[in-house]
Amino acid sequence: MSICIKSLIKNLNIVIGCTIGCSYCYARNNCRRFHMTDDFADPAYMARKLRIMSNRNPHIYFLTGMSDFSDWKHAWREEIFNQVADNPQHAYILLTKRPEKISFQTNDNNVWMGVTITCDREKKRLDDLRRNIKAKHYHVTFEPLFNDIGNIDFEKIEWVVIGTETGKRKGKVEARPEWVLHIAEQAKAHRIPVFMKEDLLPVMGEDRMIQEFPEQFIQKTWREKSSKK
Ligand code: SF4
Repeated sequence: MSICIKSLIKNLNIVIGCTIGCSYCYARNNCRRFHMTDDFADPAYMARKLRIMSNRNPHIYFLTGMSDFSDWKHAWREEIFNQVADNPQHAYILLTKRPEKISFQTNDNNVWMGVTITCDREKKRLDDLRRNIKAKHYHVTFEPLFNDIGNIDFEKIEWVVIGTETGKRKGKVEARPEWVLHIAEQAKAHRIPVFMKEDLLPVMGEDRMIQEFPEQFIQKTWREKSSKK
């Protein structure tokens, strides 16, 4: 049995829209299908959703499920991170594909800044993440995985997520088990928790699936469950 990542991590899309334009973007399809905004290529700030963070029960919130952090305007970041600072009971996960365009610093111990990497030539994003974004915790998501990433510099990285392309895109690439294992083995050598997303189950098989979370996430989800008892 595999865990669906969404059962533990909640999407909180305070910004909807992205200027990057990936061909495989599911967020753009959902935005159009459910008419969330007029134009996905023009990111929109939904300030009214900030109040969701005031929930006293601890959650792990993924803040960039329908945006890229590089598109967040300065004023949006300020408001959102003020709310983050006021609500340390949660953990917050953010991702970008353009760390080279960002200059940002957070001292919040519950903020996890990361990059998405889909192929070997995008590995430089890890260097740009560590250089341009100062944070207490870093993570990396290899999704959708399009080839063998090769050797990876995992310095300061505390969580690794791996996923395959989903959906019905023409030319869709399914991750190969050896690509996934090459990442997972390197991460394990650095004692970094690895989470293979549920869509990798048919690729990897039950025996080779790894689904681990950082200790901070386990504590927060455990506290959430105990508070409901
Ligand atoms: S970076 Fe993410 S949100 Fe932006 S287009 Fe690509 S997949 Fe969609």
